[in-house]
Amino acid sequence: MFNWARKLWNKRIIARSQITQKQWDHAIGQLELLNRLSSEEKSALQDLATLFVYKKTFVGAHGLKVTKNILLTIALQACLPILKLDIQWYKNWITIVIYPDAFTPKETLVDENGIVHPVRDAMIGQAWLHGPVLLSWPDVKKSGQLDGYNLVLHEFAHKLDMLNGAANGMPPLHKNMDRAKWTQSFSDAYNDFRHKVTNNSATEIDVYAATDPAEFFAVLSELYFEDAKNLNKLYPQVYEQMQLFYRQKTL
Ligand SMILES: [Zn+2]
Repeated sequence: MFNWARKLWNKRIIARSQITQKQWDHAIGQLELLNRLSSEEKSALQDLATLFVYKKTFVGAHGLKVTKNILLTIALQACLPILKLDIQWYKNWITIVIYPDAFTPKETLVDENGIVHPVRDAMIGQAWLHGPVLLSWPDVKKSGQLDGYNLVLHEFAHKLDMLNGAANGMPPLHKNMDRAKWTQSFSDAYNDFRHKVTNNSATEIDVYAATDPAEFFAVLSELYFEDAKNLNKLYPQVYEQMQLFYRQKTL
């Protein structure tokens, strides 16, 4: 579809939305994370989230009923990272599955040696390459309170990362960005962080970030929106690269 036609179509979707302003205001009011936004930005986020709700399919698993509040709480936080980008950044996949609690996906993982491992650990979230995003509702509810923790931002950061192939900690960068600078900033920070974790030094970042570069990017994206001061204090170069990527000032 041409760009102008797509914009017109999107405007129509927004105009015909059945979600009331009261429902939006309630959902926005619950998320401290959105307090820093101006009223224009809140309104742009609401439009983006309206498109998101229209384009995606929300499925409640294990008997969970997907209420308007669940829908909007997820949509608003999922759309925050793309507020200055575009809804197209979440293209090529459709479904969000919401669980009433932590879940154990029936699946296997194949490692780099081709060995198949069954997954038995309970999870609170997962993002599949070209596939759905899975979320545990109680953990979504804990998100958005500016404590540095945010399951929705985490899983959707993986989605952005996966846009140029498997998750590796580098989403598609904008034309004005320097690949070498991104790589240098993130690998310096990642090595420093892993060193601290190995030495049991106190760290202010979730140790899960030391798993691999993809998790490092996802956890630091949570911090970028939830606790930017801390991220900027610990890894200012990473903060700068994320600001260029997300095109938002979160400090
Ligand atoms: Zn992750």
